[in-house]
Amino acid sequence: MTDLIALMADLEEYLGDPWDAGALMPYPRILAADEDQRYPHEFVDVLASWGLYDWIVPAANGGKAVNVEDGFNLYRLVGRRDPTSATAMVLTSLSYMPVWIAGSPEQRQHFADAIRGGRKLAWGLSERRHGSDVLANETTARRTDGGWLLNGEKWTIGNATVACTVMVHARTSDKGGPGGYSIFAVEKDCVPPGQLAHLPDEPLHGLRGLDMSGVRLTDCFVPDSALVGRAGQGLEIALKSSQLARIAIASIAMACVDTALRSTLDFAGRRVIFGGTVAEVPYSRRQLAESFAELLIADALTTGAVRSLQLAPAQASVWSSVVKYFVPTLLEETLARLTTVLGARYYLRGHPRHGIFQKVLRDFAISNFADGNTVVNLKNIALQLDGLLAGAVGQDPGEVARARA
Ligand SMILES: Cc1cc2nc3c(=O)[nH]c(=O)nc-3n(C[C@H](O)[C@H](O)[C@H](O)COP(=O)(O)OP(=O)(O)OC[C@H]3O[C@@H](n4cnc5c(N)ncnc54)[C@H](O)[C@@H]3O)c2cc1C
Repeated sequence: MTDLIALMADLEEYLGDPWDAGALMPYPRILAADEDQRYPHEFVDVLASWGLYDWIVPAANGGKAVNVEDGFNLYRLVGRRDPTSATAMVLTSLSYMPVWIAGSPEQRQHFADAIRGGRKLAWGLSERRHGSDVLANETTARRTDGGWLLNGEKWTIGNATVACTVMVHARTSDKGGPGGYSIFAVEKDCVPPGQLAHLPDEPLHGLRGLDMSGVRLTDCFVPDSALVGRAGQGLEIALKSSQLARIAIASIAMACVDTALRSTLDFAGRRVIFGGTVAEVPYSRRQLAESFAELLIADALTTGAVRSLQLAPAQASVWSSVVKYFVPTLLEETLARLTTVLGARYYLRGHPRHGIFQKVLRDFAISNFADGNTVVNLKNIALQLDGLLAGAVGQDPGEVARARA
């Protein structure tokens, strides 16, 4: 069994003191990359050299992923420094999910080797016109000799330009519907010229260095071996993949709040006003203590959900939506609470000590909408409530009160 604490300590030590400009991944360089809206190649390479990608590749295919909790916490640790680098790498992990869930043994090994070799993947589900309504997606894949011809556009796709492969969700039946979509691993190196074009990069509010673009496919030929799972299995694979994605995004949300809390604590301990530190002001102390408590609540809930992926996969649909709704909603309030303690400095992008706060505040917002926003997740829970309540054990409130007395 992995000693997760020792592993995390090793990664933290490798990355160095975030305040030391000479360390491998310090805040000043992270903030400079963010200001320049630069893809964090330098940090992704450093993390890949440490072996971070190994923790998202199954042990059977040469990686080290056995317990999902290990990878989850390692990415969370990276996200505390730079949510952009963590997200860029998590995107590769999520894009591998369809192959892990339904790919052939050859596909699993091929893409495991690609990831461990530092190549990036992208998950091409969304389309400009359809967003959450994935059963309206228009990108098509039609049979041709020896393979398929793909036509359509995938938009706001993380890593779409830097990735070597885009997993494309395409309509394989004219009438669409739940059995009408399939997933294709489109390897750019193998696509004939002129059949795949990158869409322009979209400037973002947070995660400013992320590659947020897309692909346009024009009679794009892929061989039969590019089909992931069975024809018609696309929606099922996408839904299963999204269970992991929804929980993984909570790691970014918690990482952002962890850094915001540390930055605010640092301020509250140093800043002297009216003859004492901010930390000595009872109201501020309360805000800091409540913020920490909320982070612990998010941590406890998310840990259960991460474990459910392997221990109770049949419940993962519910747990992942609970986490995806509750954690961003709760921690958004925590961030607002922390801004009242940090005060005006939270608004200063160039502040040498607290500039990281405004970055994590912006980066955090992705947890609200990526892979199904809070409303979509509430709806997913609501749709399952009847089934959940049918199995619930009723309790007499009077009996509970007497037992407690
Ligand atoms: C930074 C970023 C990264 C992204 N990365 C990827 C990626 O890697 N791969 C990828 O495929 N896509 C990606 N996307 C696309 C993103 O996941 C989709 O945009 C999103 O899932 C669709 O949601 P939407 O907020 O655009 O809302 P829309 O689908 O346009 O819906 C609009 C609004 O309608 C309401 N609504 C929608 N559905 C429901 C419902 N079921 N019940 C009730 N109300 C509803 C909500 O209020 C919602 O905000 C990314 C987007 C961004 C901005």
